[in-house]
Formats: sequence, structure tokens, C-alpha cells
Amino acid sequence: MNNKILVVAEVRDGALKGISKEAMVFAAAASNSLSAEVVSVALGADLSQVAPALAACGGRRSLQVEDPGLDPYTPEAYVEALSQVISKEDPAMVVIGHSYQAMDFFPRLAAAHGGALVPDVTAMDADGAFTRKVINGKLDARTVPAEGVRIFVSLQQGAFPVTEFSGEAQVESCSVDLSGVTPRKVIEIAPAEVGEVDLAAAEKIVSGGRGVGDKDKFQIVFDLAEAMGAAVGASRPPCDAEWVEHQRQIGSSGQVVAPKLYVALGISGAIQHLVGMRGSQCIVAINKDPNAAIFQEATYGIVGDLHEVVPELIAALNEAKE
Ligand SMILES: Cc1cc2nc3c(=O)[nH]c(=O)nc-3n(C[C@H](O)[C@H](O)[C@H](O)COP(=O)(O)OP(=O)(O)OC[C@H]3O[C@@H](n4cnc5c(N)ncnc54)[C@H](O)[C@@H]3O)c2cc1C
Repeated sequence: MNNKILVVAEVRDGALKGISKEAMVFAAAASNSLSAEVVSVALGADLSQVAPALAACGGRRSLQVEDPGLDPYTPEAYVEALSQVISKEDPAMVVIGHSYQAMDFFPRLAAAHGGALVPDVTAMDADGAFTRKVINGKLDARTVPAEGVRIFVSLQQGAFPVTEFSGEAQVESCSVDLSGVTPRKVIEIAPAEVGEVDLAAAEKIVSGGRGVGDKDKFQIVFDLAEAMGAAVGASRPPCDAEWVEHQRQIGSSGQVVAPKLYVALGISGAIQHLVGMRGSQCIVAINKDPNAAIFQEATYGIVGDLHEVVPELIAALNEAKE
């Protein structure tokens, strides 16, 4: 095996997904400690937009695998195409963001190569041990793959926030032969439900918890979000109580988000919620309990009744806009 890290980029609607940039951040850090070369690879039918975006994320080379059989995505075609790339490049480590698509095909790819699969990683030590959250985020498990085995690592969204990239990779096209593949037939790709918010892409999120009070009072979360130009999220209780749609739930059984700014209103900071938002760059918590666990994670904290604090914040924001 070569001392290379192969980063598999995810492409959606012809564009590079943000989680792939996080994978490039991880690869850059890992390449420093392992003295490895970083090579990225993107797959699709038309990568004209993706190629420059991925190359700008660094690494030495950026492979573009263009084939009509790679769009729409099927696990069969992806596993075959990536298997051919892996055979050519012979990397010691293959890295991907832990997305739904990755969960669909990455274990199959690892098995096809007899590799060691380390899923949903949040950190890697200098000695090559990986950290993963287990038991709903309550424990950190350290995983050390057996020596001499190719490692397939998927990275938890938000664990490796995107900073600035330095350097640009050399773009190379790479052909694959998919003639032996019989992919499943994709009948339809259903669009997201009307009204669903892609919280994973939001730069600012205001989230409300049980402490907001009830369905009517939850309007205050929307009001602050509107004043800030932010998306609205929630902890699990407001979703279970149907104050807001389930798609807004953030946490271990909801969405994992990593915005620049996350404002938590009346949220205690249970671990199941924290695993969904602790990758945020700046966390502001408003809670009337000074001992709430959310304050351990918060960049800024306000101890107080949110129904007194938030109207003042909204007024100050509106005044600043004027
Ligand atoms: C398998 C499993 C999966 C789960 N998945 C998730 C998940 O994905 N996401 C998730 O969020 N939870 C999840 N949970 C639930 C989780 O354990 C917590 O119960 C939940 O996160 C608590 O939500 P909360 O902080 O809104 O409510 P609480 O823990 O009840 O906290 C409410 C907070 O509001 C504060 N407060 C009350 N009134 C005010 C006020 N007027 N002003 C300011 N502060 C006030 C209180 O001091 C308190 O800290 C899961 C649980 C399990 C078992």
C-alpha cells in the first residue's frame, strides 16, 4: 500500500457537498501526522463545477471520474468505480464524510477490499487511533485498526470544521470501466418535503427547547431567527410535542449541524442534543438555570428567562439594522 489518503468527495446536483470539505480538513491534518499524500476523488456524469471546487480544497492531486453510469448515484456503480480507483492508487486510508450516501455504499466498499471500517469518527490521535462516539454519544471509543490493513474512515459531520484551505490540487481525469456493473434502477429521487429546512447548510441556527414553554410561545424562536436571518431548529421535546416539524430536530436522532452561529433557547444540553450541534463555531445559550450543561459548551451564555431576554435581543437587532 502507498502512504496516501484518498478522500472521496460527495457530489449533489453537480456541486460539491460541504461535508466533503470537512473530509479534506481531516485529511490535511492526518497527512501532517502520517506524512501521507492526499488525493481527492469525485464521481459523476458532469464534474465541471465540482473539479475546481474540490481542487481548491488542497491535496496534491484531484481525480475526476466522469461516467454517465455514475449519475444518478447507485451503490453498485460507486463501489465498482471506487474499487478501480483504489486498485490504481493503492491508498493506505480512504476517507469520506459520514453522510447517508456514505452509509449506503462505504461499508460495502470496505468489505470488497477486506479493509478496516471505522465509521463516524470525531478525532484521530497522532498515533493513528480514532475516536468515535458510542452509546448515544455518552462514551468515546478509541479504535486502533490492525496494522497492514487498508483503513476506511467516515467522519462525523461537524467534527472537522472547515477553515481556510492552502494550496490547490492538480486536476486529473481518471477513467473507469463500468460495463460489468448492473446497477439498480432508480425510479425516482423524491425532493425534500415542502417546508423542510436544510439545517445542515444553514450558517446561523436558532434552536428552541422544552424551556420555551409551549407551541404558541415557540413563535419567539421564529421571531429571533427572522431578526438574525437564521434557520430554526429544535431539541427533541418540541418536536415530539408537535410544536414544530420533526425535520427541525437536532441531535443524535435528528440532524447534525455545524453552523457558524448556534443560539440555544431553553435547551438544557443533554448529550443527545450536544452531539448534533457541538461542531458549531460559536454557541450562544440562554437558560434560566446557571448549572445547565449547555453552558459547558457555550461560547457565550446568558442566564435568564428567555422570554425576557429574547425580545430585548430582537429589539437591539432591529435597531442595529436601522
Ligand atoms: C435514544 C434517544 C435519542 C434522543 N435524541 C435526541 C435528539 O436527537 N435531540 C435532542 O435534542 N434530544 C434527544 N433526546 C432527548 C434528550 O435526552 C433530552 O431529553 C432532550 O434533549 C432535552 O431537551 P431540552 O433541553 O429541550 O429539554 P429539558 O432537558 O427539559 O431542558 C429545558 C431547559 O430549559 C430551561 N428553561 C426552562 N424555562 C426557561 C425559560 N423561561 N428561559 C430560559 N430557560 C428556560 C431549563 O432550565 C432547562 O435547562 C434523545 C433521547 C434518547 C433516549
